[in-house]
Amino acid sequence: MKHKKIEHSKPLVELLHGEAIEEGISRRTALKMMGVGGAATLVGSSPFLQADEAPTAKSEKNAKILIVGGGAGGIMALARLHSALPNADITIIAPNETHLYQPGQVFMAAGLYTLDDIAKENREFIPEDVNWIKDEVASFDPDNNKVTTRAGVEVPYDYMVVATGIVYHYDWIKGLSEEDIGKNSISSVYLNNLEKGTAKGGEVTLHWFNALKEAAASGKKPTVLYTSPNTPIKCGGAPQKILYLSADHLKKNDLGANYIYATDSAKLFHIPEIEKSLLEVQNKYDTITNHFRHNLIAIDTKNKVATFEETYEVKGEYDEDLEEYDISEEKRMVDISYDFIHIVPPMGPPQALVDSQLGWQKGTAKGWLEVDQETLQHRRYPNVFGMGDVCGIPLGKTGGSTRHHGPIAVGNLISALEGKPLMEKFDGYTVCPLKTEYGEIIMAEFNYKGLAPTVPFLDPAKPRFLWWAFDLYQLKPMYWYLMLRGWF
Ligand SMILES: Cc1cc2nc3c(=O)[nH]c(=O)nc-3n(C[C@H](O)[C@H](O)[C@H](O)COP(=O)(O)OP(=O)(O)OC[C@H]3O[C@@H](n4cnc5c(N)ncnc54)[C@H](O)[C@@H]3O)c2cc1C
Repeated sequence: MKHKKIEHSKPLVELLHGEAIEEGISRRTALKMMGVGGAATLVGSSPFLQADEAPTAKSEKNAKILIVGGGAGGIMALARLHSALPNADITIIAPNETHLYQPGQVFMAAGLYTLDDIAKENREFIPEDVNWIKDEVASFDPDNNKVTTRAGVEVPYDYMVVATGIVYHYDWIKGLSEEDIGKNSISSVYLNNLEKGTAKGGEVTLHWFNALKEAAASGKKPTVLYTSPNTPIKCGGAPQKILYLSADHLKKNDLGANYIYATDSAKLFHIPEIEKSLLEVQNKYDTITNHFRHNLIAIDTKNKVATFEETYEVKGEYDEDLEEYDISEEKRMVDISYDFIHIVPPMGPPQALVDSQLGWQKGTAKGWLEVDQETLQHRRYPNVFGMGDVCGIPLGKTGGSTRHHGPIAVGNLISALEGKPLMEKFDGYTVCPLKTEYGEIIMAEFNYKGLAPTVPFLDPAKPRFLWWAFDLYQLKPMYWYLMLRGWF
């Protein structure tokens, strides 16, 4: 069965700033209209803006291809596989009728986007000749090359791409449930329901910003607490984005607060240049106190007290041979009172994966998809590949990384199908647009080796309006019209 060209459900597709393009617009034209063609030429082999990266690997072979997950990774994989494998039988298992551009939740909190800006029908991205099962995988059976859906349907495959993303665990914090978000001065920009297409986190955080401003205007400086957990999280920069945007929201109104950033990490950022720059950013605002190695474990929402497990070092005996002191780690409980709190939930892989043979079976990555950190091929099941946040690899839980996974996972899948060696390698590319104020972003781009700026002659640690404008105005249309179409 030859595939048809993707039919978009709307005759005209709105692009940036009200410009419209006819259905069937070429990728080159779309890039030109978004002004990235030039930028792409500028950055040469750099990952983030690489324009001429459409999938070149193709195969005429017939195979049953299964994609699990209909978010960023699943849809990007689908677009690329659909155009590269004209004779394949492609099935996608994705429960979500609506597709959310999740990075936009931060701009919703900032009052610059609404839900309409970040939501589209998934049907726009799923070609008619693809078998779309609107359900979730309840169990994976990689030994028999099949999955079973919640409805009990067994779906066999020759090759599978797993792109099930991440699951929030608000309830791992004692005393907290998802229902508390948006009440009692508690916010969490992350909150969304991908199956239902809601982004409550963006909405409630906007209200929270305004309530905070009102409280600060009433005379007494509020204490505002921001947390970041001890699990891997998607978009690791989001906890600090909310800290700086909310502080700037007050600053612009000549108001201040006692800000407390309590994170399980030992630093603001793992790359020294970015860390230094963030410390300078913090000096611009009213007092920000950092509490490192603090993991939120419980909350008393009524009395507004958050309990953290703090990990700290204890100096022991002096070792004459090593000529240094023994250092051991200990833990203690710390209570912090707050007036307002922004919570980033602990996160983990979907349960179906944890329960399967596909996750790492032990170690710190237990339950996350056990793929090779370069080829994105499963380490024990070579007909399985990973895309996006679910991958149990050291870096890459961002939409930008997921975009990079696309040509790599799909290219290697096609090589495997063709019986050829896997040539594509993921370098760990991760991008973190750290919003340091309204109008400025540090575009932190890094990979397994360290900093990896797209535009090498711009200091990557410097907050810039350029990156703010790029993130606010260009990334979203690039996501909808290029990335999800597999063009970029
Ligand atoms: C507040 C916020 C801010 C962010 N900011 C940025 C940013 O600035 N830059 C950036 O690059 N990234 C950012 N991200 C991260 C980015 O959105 C994710 O990294 C990206 O969406 C990952 O794609 P994914 O396909 O792995 O997961 P998702 O896009 O989350 O999609 C996973 C899909 O799998 C489905 N699914 C789950 N379990 C199953 C199952 N068992 N069977 C079938 N389907 C299943 C889900 O319903 C979902 O549709 C942000 C995210 C949030 C929430």
